Formats: sequence, structure tokens, C-alpha cells
Amino acid sequence: MDVHDPDALTRVTPETSLVEAECIFCKIGRGEIPAKPAYRDADVIAIEDVNPQAPTHLLVLPLRHYASLGDLLESGNTGLASALLRVAANLGHERGGDDGFRLVVNTGPHGGQTVGHLHLHVLAGRSLTWPPG
Ligand code: 5GP
Ligand code: ZN
Repeated sequence: MDVHDPDALTRVTPETSLVEAECIFCKIGRGEIPAKPAYRDADVIAIEDVNPQAPTHLLVLPLRHYASLGDLLESGNTGLASALLRVAANLGHERGGDDGFRLVVNTGPHGGQTVGHLHLHVLAGRSLTWPPG
């Protein structure tokens, strides 16, 4: 990838892996699948979840494909990890106000992960139960 090309992260090129070419969230990042945006910068996007579980249900994800939080941390890109947390927490504060919010990272089959591209759920707008089902 050409690090000087600002659009390089959002375009399919011969270097794009099959996983990235087929991944739903990579496709959303490239604009190939529509999504309702809540935030975007050079590295991170937030979108409305298509099947919301609360009045606010956003997904915060890196534009670059990582399968899991573990993959991102192993890559050494701690700046991106903190950027994801910052965006998610800011949106949670914005949407949840004094009533609060919840951040969730489902990981693997027992965690309930259904899309294999790292994402943080931001849930707010109602009182959420605990423990999860
Ligand atoms: P997971 O189950 O992996 O933690 O979360 C995946 C989330 O992505 C689910 O809440 C699901 O509703 C959402 N989702 C799946 N496909 C799409 C899509 O095409 N667009 C949007 N905006 N959300 C999606
Ligand atoms: Zn992806």
C-alpha cells in the first residue's frame, strides 16, 4: 500500500486480500455497501447497526481489517486501539449523557461474534440488563 495515498485504505487493489475483498465491514469502509455514518476519520468509522438492540446502537471499527482485538494488539498498533476506544467512549458519552452507555466487543463463537472484522458496539438510550444471555 502507498502510505502517501490518502485513499489507499478505501480502495480494492491487487494487494487487497481475499478476506478484505469479501468482508462486509471492509466493504462498508470502502463505500461498496451503504451504511448510516456516525463518525469518520482517516482510520476509524462509526456506523448505525443495521439491527439495533437499543435506541443508540453504533458500531465503531477500524478501516483496516483486523479479525479481533487480539490481532490488532499483536500488530503493535496501540495508537489505533486507543483511537477506537476514544471514538467509542466519546459517542457513548454523546448519546448516553448522564444515563451512561455500554461498550461491547464480542469475540469468537462463544462471544457471539458474527462479523470477523473487529468492531465495538456502543449501546445507549435504555437501561441494559446484566448478565448477558
Ligand atoms: P457481532 O455479532 O459480530 O458482535 O456484531 C455484528 C453486528 O453487525 C450485528 O449487531 C449486526 O446487526 C451488524 N451488521 C451485520 N451486517 C451489517 C451491515 O451490513 N450493516 C450494518 N450497519 N450492520 C451490520
Ligand atoms: Zn474487514
